Amino acid sequence: MIKRRALLKYLSASPLALGLSGIPFLPVTAAPAPPVPKRDLIKELGLSTFINAAGTFTTMTASLMHEEVMETMNTTSKEFVMLDDVQDKVGVKIAALCHAESAMVTAGCWSALVLGTAGVLTGMDQAKVSQLPNVAGLKSEVIVQKAHNVGYVHALTNTGVSIVAVETAEELENAITDKTAMMWFLNFTAPLGKIQHEEWLAIGKKHKIPCMIDMAADVPPVTNLWRFNDLGFDLVCVSGGKAIRGPQSAGLLMGRKDLIAAARLSSPPRAGNIGRGMKVNKEEILGMYVALEMYIKQDHDKDWKDWEARVAVIEKEVSKIKGVSTKVVVPPVANHTPSLVITWDKSLVNITRDALVANLRSGTPSIAVMSNEELMLNLTVFMLKPGQDKIVGKRIAEELAKATV
Ligand SMILES: *Cc1c(COP(=O)(O)O)cnc(C)c1O
Repeated sequence: MIKRRALLKYLSASPLALGLSGIPFLPVTAAPAPPVPKRDLIKELGLSTFINAAGTFTTMTASLMHEEVMETMNTTSKEFVMLDDVQDKVGVKIAALCHAESAMVTAGCWSALVLGTAGVLTGMDQAKVSQLPNVAGLKSEVIVQKAHNVGYVHALTNTGVSIVAVETAEELENAITDKTAMMWFLNFTAPLGKIQHEEWLAIGKKHKIPCMIDMAADVPPVTNLWRFNDLGFDLVCVSGGKAIRGPQSAGLLMGRKDLIAAARLSSPPRAGNIGRGMKVNKEEILGMYVALEMYIKQDHDKDWKDWEARVAVIEKEVSKIKGVSTKVVVPPVANHTPSLVITWDKSLVNITRDALVANLRSGTPSIAVMSNEELMLNLTVFMLKPGQDKIVGKRIAEELAKATV
């Protein structure tokens, strides 16, 4: 370790402490900053952009931030503030917006899952914070339903816990032991599970086991932002950069005050914990708050009508092709917006799903769509910019027409 006196001596001799001029304490003059030259990095680096008719997918950078969010990030980048102060102030606002006792901004929903679990395991015990991901001597099991036991549980096991999977309420009751740290619920797979939110919570409350829900991509509807807090989940985890259109690298952890305080012990700026690498800077924390505020205030009925109108535009274009059928569907959870399913009769339109997806992606302009089955495209319209619905409809119709037998 460097001794304090040696450090002071080093600092006083360093050119940075003297300023580049070598004159100590040269006052900073308020000369106007020269304009920043405009650069187009997308062009400079040869990155290819595309129209997003697929949805809020991380691989596609999920969503576009509003100007207000960018403006917040830009203006707040010009001052120093204490990172904990930003989390404190923003946490109070977010908690009030979403009916939670407390909240923090995390580095995405994944980090909310890790940090929230860490908070449940450690409480305010610093020794426990330091020992993770070693869970020796701690409660070390998280119970999930089999239908919820998908890749996202790795966020939980990052803390050192192991997963216990159950199917029925009876199995759940039997699985609860003195090792049980938490019960985890994955909202988008709820329809596939045997136990629904209320029953899950009732069993958790009965055994005094904290319950966490992952509802990462499950707005709209906007009401989901407070529904799970109102229902009584102890921790609620949300992605900031999907439909809420906050920074891609931000998310929300909301819930019980004691658990959020505990989660923050495993978060930056503190180190010697499992979460030091999950840093969110002040610009992102503040940008996330502004995005959330905007999202809540938005006219959601109008948005819905806009999406329906966009779907209708695309539907009209592609329906001109003989052998093509369309259907408007609204997925019950996750990407819960009007989307268009396009199918075609292979004897009339001879193209495979993969070829069609590839042609749209490599065409001009490039268009990204989703497809889960052969002879089928799935389109969402909520990530389209104004006017892109027409382009998407025309391009798909063009490709289908080319393949007409
Ligand atoms: C996207 C997603 C996550 C991860 O969220 P990030 O904000 O990308 O960290 C976690 N769980 C589910 C269900 C998701 O859809």
